[in-house]
Amino acid sequence: MAFSLLNQLRQINRHLVELPCPGCGQFDPQLIWRYDRYFLRVNLSVCRHCSLVYLARGMKDDTQARFYGQLYPRLMRQPPASKAVWNYRLIAGYRFSEISNVVGQCQSVLDIGAGLGFFLEACRAHGCEHYMGLEPGGPQRDHAVQVLGLGEHVRPEELDEQT
Ligand SMILES: [Zn+2]
Repeated sequence: MAFSLLNQLRQINRHLVELPCPGCGQFDPQLIWRYDRYFLRVNLSVCRHCSLVYLARGMKDDTQARFYGQLYPRLMRQPPASKAVWNYRLIAGYRFSEISNVVGQCQSVLDIGAGLGFFLEACRAHGCEHYMGLEPGGPQRDHAVQVLGLGEHVRPEELDEQT
């Protein structure tokens, strides 16, 4: 089971493509951290044009459909197993410090696709004054809001003109 999951992630890794900055559409990323979650080489980066932090490699079309249809529910099992929780928290802490090392410490954070909320929890723990997450997934958002106590800092929305 675990082995086949790793094999499927490796396959997806081979199909990742360069993505433009979702903020300004440019292809000019400064690399922050090559690997983030799930062993995927996603190239967490900061855009040299608009300073948005984003994943500069990702999935398109078929690969994305396969990932969210088949793998994501297995990776994001609800509620997360207790041994997974410390791992999520550790990775969120690494992500926070890698981003801060490159862009400096942020006082305002908007986390688009906040998931279970561990990154926002790390922001809160490091003294960010303003932090907000958008997470359309109900079970993930419930974890962030209730278990991690992020409350009204996480909203049930996707990113659109209004939000
Ligand atoms: Zn940009």
